[in-house]
Amino acid sequence: MKGMMQHRPLLISNILEYAAEAHPKCEIVSVRTEGDIHRQTYPQTLKRVYQLANALKGLGVELGDRVATLAWNGYRHFELYYAISGQGAVCHTINPRLSAEQLIYIVNHAEDKVLFLDTTFVPIIEGVKDELPSDLVYVIMTDRAHMPENGFDALCYEDLLADQPESFDWPEFDETTAAALCYTSGTTGNPKGALYSHRSTVLHALMLGLIMGSSIPQEAKVLPVVPLFHVNAWGIPYASPLLGHSLVMPGGALDGESLFKLMDTEGVFSAWGVPTVWMGLLAEIKKQGRKPNGFSDVVVGGSAAPRKMIETFEGMGVHVGHAWGMTEMSPIGTHGNMPKWVKELPFDKMIDIKAKQGRRAFGVDLKIVDDEGNRQPHDGKAVGELYVRGNTIVSGYFKNDEATAKAIDAEGWFGTGDIASIDGNGILSIQDRSKDLIKSGGEWISSIDLENAAMSHPGISNCAAVAMPHPKWDERPVLVAVAAGDDKPSLEELHQHMSEHFAKWQLPDDVIWTDALPLTATGKVSKLTLRQQFADYKLPDLR
Ligand code: ADP
Repeated sequence: MKGMMQHRPLLISNILEYAAEAHPKCEIVSVRTEGDIHRQTYPQTLKRVYQLANALKGLGVELGDRVATLAWNGYRHFELYYAISGQGAVCHTINPRLSAEQLIYIVNHAEDKVLFLDTTFVPIIEGVKDELPSDLVYVIMTDRAHMPENGFDALCYEDLLADQPESFDWPEFDETTAAALCYTSGTTGNPKGALYSHRSTVLHALMLGLIMGSSIPQEAKVLPVVPLFHVNAWGIPYASPLLGHSLVMPGGALDGESLFKLMDTEGVFSAWGVPTVWMGLLAEIKKQGRKPNGFSDVVVGGSAAPRKMIETFEGMGVHVGHAWGMTEMSPIGTHGNMPKWVKELPFDKMIDIKAKQGRRAFGVDLKIVDDEGNRQPHDGKAVGELYVRGNTIVSGYFKNDEATAKAIDAEGWFGTGDIASIDGNGILSIQDRSKDLIKSGGEWISSIDLENAAMSHPGISNCAAVAMPHPKWDERPVLVAVAAGDDKPSLEELHQHMSEHFAKWQLPDDVIWTDALPLTATGKVSKLTLRQQFADYKLPDLR
């Protein structure tokens, strides 16, 4: 027997219309490429979204067309999210840090019809325009007064909106219609596209809302440092309007000093981003001798939050949520908002648990399997490859059957490529990417654990543990480290410092000092680049 309830499609346009009605005073505050700070409420935003939707229609955008964005976090980018998806087109966000080759690949692969870009990115497009579709329409996201010279005959965003009607009848379509497209940065092979639907996006906003609602009050200010060009800024532009948060959009200035100033003057309550960004902010906090006004909550994800970072934030009264996810998961998988029993533990024990990746979001199923695909127990000891299943997880890659076949197992679960354990309290602990695992004498060593232990030494500000080939042991761990000051600890000193947590054979064979670690397009330490950089490196006992 079927339930007798109405069925309404879950559509992204409903989110902003709800926010404009229920949270009319909440604002989007943006650092603009024009150089000033701009503010508009959700009702004002909705009007502009209607105008933009009319303008897109005028440009010939139709249901299913891909419309690309190459932009920082700001209100115009937010407007594009809603105007493009709202009318049934697909908002394809492009990461400006991709190589020219990858950018050309994804614009052509996605068959984008229109490309919206910030003034900052005009030179990037001038460099590649001959290899982009010849009929691609370009729109620069600024007003007439700030339109830069450009070699591709671009339209002006504000001109496009001017005089458009401030209302728009959203078409109704099936909730499984594609809404947004984001390519993974593709460390191996070509980037692969995750194609989100309206249904998956709205469900993800509700799931994320449950997490945000437990740590962020209504009307608080939330700052996504995580870019709108990467996995929909972790879903914040959809969840925060529902919850009644104001959004603070930092534009392109993501260094510690600029972030501190913005957070301080705006009184940002919660900020979200990858560990490298927080290292910059923590350096500025140290310099100023205080945290930004009102700063109470930080979400760290995208790669493992170093234990020392969690400890420092918590020590200054900033609650840390350690989140894990993937582009293919919209992206939230787990989050570190902890139950009462964890909060009541002694500080050190609490930090131990916070350094893990937290519990799954409702709607995300997790399983860990051994090399033969057998399920492993969730007992905190068994370690295996992590697979996920749920309504917010890809069922395959956009126009890429080969990658799809590799990613989805016989039961329909998506293979994350992460190696993990899950304990009896449902807390996930990511040990490594499978391709970054260090295998020594048939036993593996977690690079995340090594990095955490090394980074707790005051002489190290950042580091990465990588596997180096060894004829007898197969691989041995080596630390590539950035020193915190002039005094670099010796290898022996590091061993002593780390020996509490590791058996002797697990400790790194060498430490290589460097000025900075290479980063991926999404701001994570790029182990692939490190492996290439040190391709000719020889371990001390082989020299
Ligand atoms: P890309 O590398 O293309 O930017 P994603 O952002 O989707 O792709 O990266 C997802 C991967 O990042 C995960 O599979 C995992 O390896 C890593 N990751 C994300 N969050 C965490 C975390 N909190 N701890 C450890 N690893 C993480």
